[in-house]
Amino acid sequence: MTAKQKRALLIVDVQNGFCPGGNLAVEGGHEIVPLINGLIRNGEYDVIVASQDWHPADHGSFASQHPGKNVFDMGELSGKPQVMWPDHCVQGTPDAEFHPDLDIAKVHYIQQKGLNPLVDSYSAFRDNDQAAVTGLADWLIAQGITDLDVCGIATEYCVKFSALDAKEMLPGVNVRFFEDASRGIDPAAISAAIAEMEAAGIPSIQAKAIHENRMPW
Ligand SMILES: [Zn+2]
Repeated sequence: MTAKQKRALLIVDVQNGFCPGGNLAVEGGHEIVPLINGLIRNGEYDVIVASQDWHPADHGSFASQHPGKNVFDMGELSGKPQVMWPDHCVQGTPDAEFHPDLDIAKVHYIQQKGLNPLVDSYSAFRDNDQAAVTGLADWLIAQGITDLDVCGIATEYCVKFSALDAKEMLPGVNVRFFEDASRGIDPAAISAAIAEMEAAGIPSIQAKAIHENRMPW
């Protein structure tokens, strides 16, 4: 690490709702928590950020708000295609809380997202229609970060869109994706997401390798 570098870690949606037992559980979601805690504690990051899906109870991404639709159907929200999700990560419920083992006390900034019932927000940086930004990009730019590593749940949704937006909205910042400190839903979609990130200049790296040989950078 050179003196000029300022490294940030973005932990995407490591919440009860996306872990086994949650309302939108991703298989193995909880398995990444020890790896992420290792990243948090290894001292290589100057800035640690966590995003938190934080929906009102009547959020338009919920199938429950669309009579006749079943969960995981494709539907529409504000005229745009939208996956019909089960009710998840509703503000103030245990489902929306961070995984209890995640070392959230060492997180410097929490970015909530998905508050507007009329649009979904996979990315921690802006809504899916790209009309409204969350403020995270401005905050990271104000910190003067040079490098951003992204991990979390789910790889092919909130992690991918956060990483792609980081690359686009943080000019000159090196963005990388932690493959083993992330979990996704569908294996084919995960592979496609990794390829899409790589094509956008976001390499996949492994947290395990970093823990084993501190530090390869
Ligand atoms: Zn959501």
